[in-house]
Amino acid sequence: MSVSRALGFTAGAVLGGLSAASAYGSVSKSSQMFGPSVYRGPGTRKSIALTFDDGPSESTPDLLEYLEKEGVAATFFQCGMHVKRLPHVAGQVAAAGHEIGNHSYSHPKLPFKSREFIRQEFSETQRVILAETGVTPMLMRAPYGFRWWGLREVQEQLLLLGVMWTVIGFDWRWPADKISGYVLGRSSPGGIVCLHDGRGTNIRPNIGNTMAAVREIVPRLRDKGYRFETVSGLLEG
Ligand SMILES: [Zn+2]
Repeated sequence: MSVSRALGFTAGAVLGGLSAASAYGSVSKSSQMFGPSVYRGPGTRKSIALTFDDGPSESTPDLLEYLEKEGVAATFFQCGMHVKRLPHVAGQVAAAGHEIGNHSYSHPKLPFKSREFIRQEFSETQRVILAETGVTPMLMRAPYGFRWWGLREVQEQLLLLGVMWTVIGFDWRWPADKISGYVLGRSSPGGIVCLHDGRGTNIRPNIGNTMAAVREIVPRLRDKGYRFETVSGLLEG
């Protein structure tokens, strides 16, 4: 199943009552309908950005240890509720030199939510991340990639650029070899890879398949001559 088809199926369950244009605007990786957003870098260097959503989780330190061993800088789109829950882990991510982005507070599906609800989700997360890591995020990613009315104003107010992805690893449901094969087959200079160091709102999620996939993806991409950059670094061109 292609990414757009897979996302289309997911989106269909959430966005059932919407016009095709609004549904497309909400989920399409290249859509600017609900706020400024990127899904890849300019690709002027042979670089790739690994991104991890839904953390921090209890397993994030294992991932940090591996990334440090490999000298890989990544970008973590964190949820406010998990930063609040595991502030020391959020701090470790920042201290290791990774970039931190805003992935909402409670990982809701934004379509049909009020502007005030959406504002709260991102402004509270911005506040919690700053308090616990000392970093003010410049990037945001909507949960499930679903964007909605009100997000543009929030992005303008908080100075947040939206980040989608070039390839998503479906690591919440696929085994490691399928994730790594899919990501490696779709990697290109300037690409943004979406994986997860958490699983939505879950406490103590099992991310063993993601960890195994990352251990396969990093050396294979490096063998092909890729460097790893944060999303902000990748966008500098
Ligand atoms: Zn997420």
